[in-house]
Amino acid sequence: MVQGRQRVQVTPPSPKISDFFGTNVFGVDQMKHSLAPSVFKKVMEAIDKGTKIDPSTAEEVASAVKTWALSKGVTHYTHWFQPLTGSTAEKHDSFFDAHAGLEKFKGSALVQQEPDASSFPNGGIRSTFEARGYTAWDPSSPIFVFEKTLCIPTIFVSYTGEALDYKTPLLKSMEAINDAALPICQLFDRNVRKVNASLGVEQEYFVIDKALFAARPDLVMAGRSVFGHNPARGQQLEDHYFGSIPTRVKNFMMEFEIEALKLGIPVSTRHNEVAPGQFEVAPVFEEINKATDHNQLLMDVMDKVAEKHDLKVLFHEKPFAGVNGSGKHNNWSLITDTGVNLFQPSNSARENLQFLTFLVATVKSVYDNADLLRASIASAGNDFRLGANEAPPAIISVFLGATLTEVLDELEKNGNIKIEKGDNMYMKLGISKIPEIILDNTDRNRTSPFAFTGNKFEFRAVGSHANVAGPMTALNVIVAETLKQLAKDIEKEMNGGKEKKIAIVNVLRKYIKDSKKIRFEGDGYSEEWEKEAAKRGLSNLKATPEALDVYERKDIQALFERHKVMNPLEVTARHEIMLEDFIKKVQIESRVMGDLALNHIIPTAISYQNKLIENANGLKGLGLDHSAAIETIKDVSRHIEAVKSGVTAMIEARKKLNKEEDIIKRAKGYQKEVKEAFFDKIRYSVDKLELLVDDELWPLIKYREMLFIR
Ligand code: ADP
Ligand code: MG
Repeated sequence: MVQGRQRVQVTPPSPKISDFFGTNVFGVDQMKHSLAPSVFKKVMEAIDKGTKIDPSTAEEVASAVKTWALSKGVTHYTHWFQPLTGSTAEKHDSFFDAHAGLEKFKGSALVQQEPDASSFPNGGIRSTFEARGYTAWDPSSPIFVFEKTLCIPTIFVSYTGEALDYKTPLLKSMEAINDAALPICQLFDRNVRKVNASLGVEQEYFVIDKALFAARPDLVMAGRSVFGHNPARGQQLEDHYFGSIPTRVKNFMMEFEIEALKLGIPVSTRHNEVAPGQFEVAPVFEEINKATDHNQLLMDVMDKVAEKHDLKVLFHEKPFAGVNGSGKHNNWSLITDTGVNLFQPSNSARENLQFLTFLVATVKSVYDNADLLRASIASAGNDFRLGANEAPPAIISVFLGATLTEVLDELEKNGNIKIEKGDNMYMKLGISKIPEIILDNTDRNRTSPFAFTGNKFEFRAVGSHANVAGPMTALNVIVAETLKQLAKDIEKEMNGGKEKKIAIVNVLRKYIKDSKKIRFEGDGYSEEWEKEAAKRGLSNLKATPEALDVYERKDIQALFERHKVMNPLEVTARHEIMLEDFIKKVQIESRVMGDLALNHIIPTAISYQNKLIENANGLKGLGLDHSAAIETIKDVSRHIEAVKSGVTAMIEARKKLNKEEDIIKRAKGYQKEVKEAFFDKIRYSVDKLELLVDDELWPLIKYREMLFIR
């Protein structure tokens, strides 16, 4: 354990958060202060309606931003974007113009840039002769200062207009959901003009000491420990679950929260998680694009601040085997410009019908597109959570809770009731009865990948490292698709002479029936559920390469295209990038495993084996019983042999697969012939050796040393 670390003292700039919240953001308030009213109006229009910003407006904004940034001691600016690498990218330019001898920031530099795009993944979209891409300012996400650099949130697209990032499809999916949800809302309230998706991200993470991190090549290279015997369970409970947050970690939390708050990220809760060394941070929900940018930025902030505290923060989904993994719970809802959360049940029967309409549509969309949702969260890291019998399973299902289950069951059954003119339909169908508050904490199911939690859906299967734009784009699109269909189905009923409310109820009843199989209230971790789900015909796609197959489907490509979110070329390009990413990650893990085993584990085990042999010979020479020593030698030898032969065969498998030209086959090969065939097997023997070999000799830092920070 690392002893005597200096604790970093953290003092907030002010006891009142409101004194420093958003001070590093050039947000609406700053713009209002520093821009002429006519310019400010144009920027607000661009934010609200997505209209283009003209060059003279851009010039004015750039000038105001520059003044603001210089006053904060900022020297450089960058377009800040989210390429498909999974992290954020920046290229810093100085404000200083050597020719002019002063600081400059042109409107054109604010609005558009051409980063050297050739080094970002593009999945074959950019051919070599047209390797350029450009970034373009997204005024709906505020400009901010981070690490003395002015950061301008941008989209990243190819010269032919295809998206090369996560943000572009997300922004388009926000339009899609608005387009589809608005007509439905207007069935209930004609005053609604816009529907926004909102998102609150609960972020789980591990924290370990920086020096211990650096001493584990697997954590450094792969973000995950490929070997390591898990600590005793009692230890976990004692040290963490019931414990308070260790002071070092608490100081770290305080500091990154302060930095986040200055950046306008509304972090609000923090606590210990189940596993030792695991914690969670959650901001208050925001409009989905902002929440996504804020989550990406928050991860960067945490990473940078951890460094100062001699800590390392791990966002990998499963850094330690046998210990709980980390997710990123995506709390998603739809909110109108009139301030109504469409997933908030109320005491008004009319609003409750609207609530049920959106609820049922969402459930139906998950049923219709479970495979797409599954693909949207697929990654090499997340496979360690989803596929294993640990939360949540790779089977997509929806949890609604007892109250709503009852309501939907009623509606489905009682729908046959003949409703005469003047009848109180809401009474007859039991819709008036939905309690306004069903935010009941006892009615929670932690094992569900997609749960209704009182006034929002919580997509809990998203990985802790993921850019949430991917899953949120998928969710927006599938719900938009169902809502479009819903509008058509309601219209059909009404054309058949049905009164509006009756028409809506009839369609809802059908959707409830059609999508019933996706609803599951039981224990998602149990083996029974796997069997039951198979009987219901639900998919259980445990590994990323097979989960990603969905992007090859013509209907899925058409779905994205229909909603103007991605064209088929963009979908297949993304598929390729994700496969490539998967292959690389498994490749790296496999190499790290091989290197550690051959260069560290086996030599150590052999020298320990020699010691044992000496010892056995000594006992024998004295005429003493040495049968126990012989047994241990045999054990050690067996595991050394297993590790050696496993690694050799794994290297052969990799060599063979690297010749495979077809990327889908290569990825599936890496899954089956490398990962499934060898990872667990090799690990099993290494972890056995960890228990057998003298602690003094063991070359790797152990779990129990890493996981309990003081
Ligand atoms: P719990 O998961 O225990 O319900 P919270 O109620 O604090 O915890 O919510 C968790 C996250 O969900 C927070 O980020 C919160 O801001 C967010 N959230 C709450 N209401 C909504 C909503 N209507 N839309 C999106 N996110 C929401
Ligand atoms: Mg939650």
